[in-house]
Amino acid sequence: MKRYLYISCLVLISFISCAQSQDINHELINKPDLKNYIEILASDSLQGRFTGSEGQKKAAKFITNRFNQLNLNTPVSGSFSETFILNQRYWNEIYIKKDGQIFTNNDKITYLGNSDQNTEYKTKLVFGGYGTDEDLNQIDINGNMVLVFSKNIRASYNIGSKLSSLGAYGVIIANADNDKQFSSIKRSLGNYILRKRMRLSNGDENTFNKKFQEFAISNDLIKTLTGKSKSNLLKLIDKKSLADCPISKISVKTEKINNTIETENIIGIIPGSSDKSILISAHYDHLEANGDIYYPGADDNASGTAALLELAEVFSKIKNLKYNIIFLATSAEELGLLGSEYHVNSENFDASKILINLNIDMIGRYDAKHEPTDNFIYAIGAAQYPEYIPYLELADSLYQNCEIDYSLGKSSGIPTLYRQSDQFSFHKKGIPAIFFFSGLHNDYHTPRDVANKINFDILTNRVKLISYLIEVIQKYDKVP
Ligand SMILES: [Zn+2]
Repeated sequence: MKRYLYISCLVLISFISCAQSQDINHELINKPDLKNYIEILASDSLQGRFTGSEGQKKAAKFITNRFNQLNLNTPVSGSFSETFILNQRYWNEIYIKKDGQIFTNNDKITYLGNSDQNTEYKTKLVFGGYGTDEDLNQIDINGNMVLVFSKNIRASYNIGSKLSSLGAYGVIIANADNDKQFSSIKRSLGNYILRKRMRLSNGDENTFNKKFQEFAISNDLIKTLTGKSKSNLLKLIDKKSLADCPISKISVKTEKINNTIETENIIGIIPGSSDKSILISAHYDHLEANGDIYYPGADDNASGTAALLELAEVFSKIKNLKYNIIFLATSAEELGLLGSEYHVNSENFDASKILINLNIDMIGRYDAKHEPTDNFIYAIGAAQYPEYIPYLELADSLYQNCEIDYSLGKSSGIPTLYRQSDQFSFHKKGIPAIFFFSGLHNDYHTPRDVANKINFDILTNRVKLISYLIEVIQKYDKVP
């Protein structure tokens, strides 16, 4: 790997002599500790540490106890926990019922709407032709479900909003010319809508500002629902006699579940003399168990959490730090960086006081670009914050047992990986942020991400390199 040449031997010698006087003991970072932490965090008892689960709470307690033992300071709240609420919403039962026959979602009907109908509702179904003013003027829309034909179901939002503003209960859309479109919508939009989502609670969970139901249906259902065949309905449009279409009765249910989940980031602080802080982050949550199968997440991200705890130990021994060091173990990262998003938007957070974020996520394995014996670590974000490259290079020179690999961050613009862990929440606030990572592998987000696949020797070296980096950031306002 290419090194920058301007770090002279003289700088190294002067640094080493100063560093000794500061008593930063990087050797406190050791393999047995890291192994112990990862084995606990990835153990059966923690069941994958999914946000809000009992296992996540146990992991939070474990981190809190360690911060306590190390005598870290709490944030101003007086607690190591930064609690926040997530709102989980997902669709449960969705169907249209006609004469006792039930048509469930993503079979012959696909729900397109975003308005709940949590108890079954009886409504009338009227036929609205192509949904033109001329067609709609022939029928009674108010409070009713309206079947319309559309040449393009995907582009039929305007029909929906028009019917909604005219007081319809909902719309059912079919493409009478091309039934294949229904299948394609079922595959894409239908599944998109069904995804379980969690988001930060904004205190206003109450549902939807309008009540309006939207469905797409397969042409098979046109006659079942209306009592008239597709060709007969097309004739009614031509004859401008839509009112002749029989009005049928259907029932609709679109049940949305709203859950509230409480979770917490764990924060410990080592004070320095400056009002600025170095913020070390690692997420400790992982994925939801699938029945009895759980996801230990040893690499993702028990490895980073263990690293954070070891770094906290090293720097907790130092009394005369310049910058505060904030250790932030985040929850809800796997749900979309929600823990870090909450943190950077919380009342007490001041972006101008954070010098840099060093985020650690998955540093116990290796990817296809490397050999299992390679002592390397990816630093992603150096290209975005080149002012930190001299610090990275200096740390790399001082600690020869681990090489920094910059290759994953070199794409133009923001690399995709950089958006995929907590550093991105800090970057979005304009805070320099570097992501430490050892690459994707085949066990990523599978039950095979287990503790005994971690390379503990290389992991130990990686954590020591980060420890040296923290030391050089503490020491130099500008690398000489
Ligand atoms: Zn992760």
